[in-house]
Amino acid sequence: MNILWIRIGGPGKTFARFAALLLVALTAACAGTGPQPSSAVPKNIIILFADGAAPVQWELGRYSSAQMRSRPFAVTDTIFRQGTLGLMSTYSHDAYVTDSAAAASAMSTGMKVLNGAISITPDGKSPRTVMEAARAQGKRIGLVSTAAIHDASPAAFSVHAKSRRESQAIVDQYLALEPDVLLGGGSDYFLSAPAGKRKDGKDVTAQFRAKGYDVVKNASELKAATGTKLLGLFADEDMDYVIDRSPEQPSFVEMTAAALRVLERNSPNGFVLFVENENTDSAGHMNDIAALIRELWVFDEAVEAALAFQRRNPDTLILVTGDHETGGLSPTYALKDLSSIATSNRFYTGKTQFEMVSRITISLGEAAEKLGKKPTAEALDRLVAEHFPGFRLDADLREAILQQRALERNFGVPTQHALSRMVARQTGFYWGTGGHTPEPVAVGALGPGQELFKGYQDNTDFARNLYRLIESK
Ligand SMILES: [Zn+2]
Repeated sequence: MNILWIRIGGPGKTFARFAALLLVALTAACAGTGPQPSSAVPKNIIILFADGAAPVQWELGRYSSAQMRSRPFAVTDTIFRQGTLGLMSTYSHDAYVTDSAAAASAMSTGMKVLNGAISITPDGKSPRTVMEAARAQGKRIGLVSTAAIHDASPAAFSVHAKSRRESQAIVDQYLALEPDVLLGGGSDYFLSAPAGKRKDGKDVTAQFRAKGYDVVKNASELKAATGTKLLGLFADEDMDYVIDRSPEQPSFVEMTAAALRVLERNSPNGFVLFVENENTDSAGHMNDIAALIRELWVFDEAVEAALAFQRRNPDTLILVTGDHETGGLSPTYALKDLSSIATSNRFYTGKTQFEMVSRITISLGEAAEKLGKKPTAEALDRLVAEHFPGFRLDADLREAILQQRALERNFGVPTQHALSRMVARQTGFYWGTGGHTPEPVAVGALGPGQELFKGYQDNTDFARNLYRLIESK
């Protein structure tokens, strides 16, 4: 910031001097471009991250929330409307279609990396991550995910690995970095056989405990935790979808609230918290509309919790975003059947179809689990009648499931993708693929520093914007 000196000489000029200083202050405050004034630097940053979510998913969350539960959707109705809105391209170093590791690495380091890499560039460098930068500035840091906590996105926001599969090495780096909060699934790589999958005989949870962490493993222990450092592991691998969730596991919003509670304590320099719902991506891969809608709603409840925190702590920036779109979600109109191509034989996805989806009581993943690797016709019919009321399984889809045959080259999970197609044929919730797509992702920002995130940007700009805020003095 430039400093402007104004000299007003002589005694008895107090009012004039005050007026001049006020003018200087107002001029500085109104300066639209250039470096942000210090008041636009947040103390706390909360990154709410829905893996696999792009504008089409946010609009599904907004519309379904209004239709099915008469409730506003905070992502669109508060963050996007009251804050700033941007779009980000997502391509990786080697591919038009990114994976989660490369996307999160770009958003964390500002560098494009190969698909599968965790914040390591193709020439082997390890540029600093958002959490390393925050820690260097004396901020507290936290990672929350419904996936294994060593999964690609939280890992790329904090540490480094040549491959996202190096789970044990990622957990070892967490132990060295000591994030103040770590909550999610993935106990397998904190424990050695027979309790876990580590190959070095170590119990890393004990090492965290020795460093002063509360270590918890279910919802009631999480609620009771009172320390300033917290490790919570609630599943061997990924945590459950909301639609299937056991009450033993804390909900996404409970994890978010617990993380904020812990990070707020003893926090003179503020914190950076990364909170991820991975199930929005998993539901996209399985083309599971019923599970996806519920995951978007629970994500939104976490956004509401962040907004409540921000009302008490206005020096907090809330960022809502995702890494890429998953599933090529394409709600549409379609023919009711193939007996006629007349428009009279057509329906549009609307209220009736949302009601049908609301009656589904199981995720497609859990349905596949129940049927097993060699499903029987009897078990399949029973499952559809019990969990998909009002749906009819056409013969071609039934065969695909019974013979465990992929529908297409980009729909490679037979049971889930055939059941999804059953739902699509009667509701119009079609999908373009079982993988990711290059649709740009949205980034909503509300709070000090929000202006940096507006407009059309690249996902590497997300990291650069964060560095401006975290490293600004
Ligand atoms: Zn994915």
